Amino acid sequence: MQMLQAWRCALLSLALGVSSLAGAANPPLKVFISVDMEGITGVYSAKEVSRGEPDYPYFREIMTRDTNAAIEGAFAAGATDVLVREGHGGMNHLLIDMLDKRVRIVRGPTHPQSMMVMMEGFDDSFDAVVLLGYHASTNYPNSILPHTMGKEVVYFKVNGQSQSEGSYNALIAGRYDVPVVMLAGDKAACEEARKIIAPNMEVVAVKEALNGGVITLHPQTARKLIRDATERGVRNRASIRPYKLTPPYAITMKVDEPRKLMAGASLNAAGEIEFTSPDLYQALNAMVQMW
Ligand SMILES: [Zn+2]
Repeated sequence: MQMLQAWRCALLSLALGVSSLAGAANPPLKVFISVDMEGITGVYSAKEVSRGEPDYPYFREIMTRDTNAAIEGAFAAGATDVLVREGHGGMNHLLIDMLDKRVRIVRGPTHPQSMMVMMEGFDDSFDAVVLLGYHASTNYPNSILPHTMGKEVVYFKVNGQSQSEGSYNALIAGRYDVPVVMLAGDKAACEEARKIIAPNMEVVAVKEALNGGVITLHPQTARKLIRDATERGVRNRASIRPYKLTPPYAITMKVDEPRKLMAGASLNAAGEIEFTSPDLYQALNAMVQMW
């Protein structure tokens, strides 16, 4: 496995025209950081995460600074390679020149046929996943800007378990036995993550919903917590279980608007779209096609 990882790393380095970031003394330790925006420190309104709005550039900078805190924590834990995936709509919000120069960044939307979305660039060579700026699923109580992928999605479940964007990504990582070691976002997102993904994963609640607004940590305080929790999570990765469900994978999805059902999918009496596959990626892919 180690040889395979080194080979992959070398190949990717070659493809990108950069030299390997792996230090000679350290064994390879690859950390994948997926960054959404609704759960970034201080954010409470959709306008703050929407391009063209006056406060968007400011929160874009906060998002970048929060990301640097996670990157710093990952390297402090011994990471030799950190890949950052932009996970907010359009996948192009980080001020990349301000990011820690040790990372590479995956930008831009995924091919519409791919189920990777917020995990694009992830593969089995990674050792730990960090989710930053995350929010709870649609209709989750006391949450800030909750939603689950497509805006018409009311909910989706895998094997009866309701999923969030964070747990969807954890399933992708879990397919290769890679744990999500840390999630930062609003308090509701943190609660939901510990319920679904892993009870002992690190979480940082940078803010909490408050009567339509938010009570937030000071950004500098939040960044210190993000840095330290990422470091602890990556160090303790062996004790955090990867999120896995038992095959076959039964998808149940409720969407607000009628959808064209793909081959193999059906509509049940409750108006939910159902699709089952023995292969997790095929099941998630079917959901992506119909949400
Ligand atoms: Zn999101």
